[in-house]
Amino acid sequence: MMAKESKHCSFCGIEASASVPMIAGTEGYICEACVMLASQVVSSWGKKKDLNEMQGELPKPLEIKPMLDQYVIGQDLAKEILSVAVYNHYKRLKHESVKTGALGEADTSVEIGKSNILLIGPSGTGKTLLASTLAKIVGVPFTVADATTLTQAGYVGDDVENILVRLLDVADGNIGKAEWGIVYIDEVDKIARSPEQAFGTRDVSGEGVQQALLRLVEGSHVKINAKGRRKDGSDTVMIDTSNILFISGGAFPGLEKHVEKRLLPPKTAIGFHAEVQDSNEKPTLEALLNATQPDDLKRFGLIPEFIGRFPVLAPLEPLDVDALIQVLTEPKNALVKQYQQLFAYDDVELEFTQDALVEIAEKAIARDTGARGLRSIMEHVLRHTMFELPSKTNIERCIVNADVIKGEAEIQVVERESEDADQPRRLSGGE
Ligand code: ADP
Repeated sequence: MMAKESKHCSFCGIEASASVPMIAGTEGYICEACVMLASQVVSSWGKKKDLNEMQGELPKPLEIKPMLDQYVIGQDLAKEILSVAVYNHYKRLKHESVKTGALGEADTSVEIGKSNILLIGPSGTGKTLLASTLAKIVGVPFTVADATTLTQAGYVGDDVENILVRLLDVADGNIGKAEWGIVYIDEVDKIARSPEQAFGTRDVSGEGVQQALLRLVEGSHVKINAKGRRKDGSDTVMIDTSNILFISGGAFPGLEKHVEKRLLPPKTAIGFHAEVQDSNEKPTLEALLNATQPDDLKRFGLIPEFIGRFPVLAPLEPLDVDALIQVLTEPKNALVKQYQQLFAYDDVELEFTQDALVEIAEKAIARDTGARGLRSIMEHVLRHTMFELPSKTNIERCIVNADVIKGEAEIQVVERESEDADQPRRLSGGE
């Protein structure tokens, strides 16, 4: 009989013992620590490969902006800030994947922190649209969460962890992909901490949510319930949020006035004939933004740690009549184009006169919902025509003018090949 040989790990050389068990292969052994290390290395290969594939197509900031221009009207400053932030974010990721790519490789390079983005602008100005378009351009999973419906885990409402469940869904259950996704958190200006907490109660929807979001945004390993979402059948999965880009948005009403007040010295004029300095020069949006300090955001009940995690601020301007008309007509899937296409399926041309577009834009402004209100106005105006049209075969063109939008006239209908073709007939009414 051969003398009992001691077993050693073929990778690190450690000797087998009761506390260091070995897995035997045909020609050697491996210890638990080396199995774990090897698994990390292999999974980083996968990540590196996926990331390199994505990075191969990652556009530069100067290329990202024109792509955003195709979908989003105006908001040049926000587009520029976002293009740079997103480019840097994914560049940083590439750098990280290289860093962790090789086992034991000494790394002395600078660690680049994550720069989450806070979009500040009224409702319906394109915050969600910008975030989702960016995700589309970069080709990463994207999900939206409404901060006002979130609660701390375990309370009635939407758990903060559910954001990650949705992101994993969009990534088709691929954890690696979900871990580089973009999350847009809407209405963060409405999750103020309650000023007076009754003793013993917890602020589960205000500060509680901010704390819970903070955990995600800061980057941590979060266990989520992924029942039925994974091919391997596992019920819980760990998601590392450190490389997820968080973009949050809010209207922060009154923020710019507050900052402006601080920027402009008060008009001091004493005496009857003292000259009041009339500074007509309003600070630009960029200047206001540069002057925005965490304290200004604290007024909205955000905790300093939360504000600190969103170092990049991007402002969005309210859309005026001209911008709203552009929103209606210019983007790739502009509303007017969408309805024209719907009508075209029935072989009917749909035309909006310029004054109709102005009227729609003015109506949306009066509703104070920005571009969000446009679709419901259009839907209301066209509804009855869309109800009748598919059953008629002789209609060539429908013309919508300002009176139709005002509800004072009906949509003009031009019939095909009838003698009175140029005699518009009335089909249906507006609002
Ligand atoms: P917010 O998130 O700022 O409240 P959204 O991005 O959800 O607003 O905008 C709602 C809708 O209005 C979008 O789906 C889009 O159709 C339209 N919209 C808003 N702003 C713009 C814009 N700047 N350019 C083009 N469309 C816009």
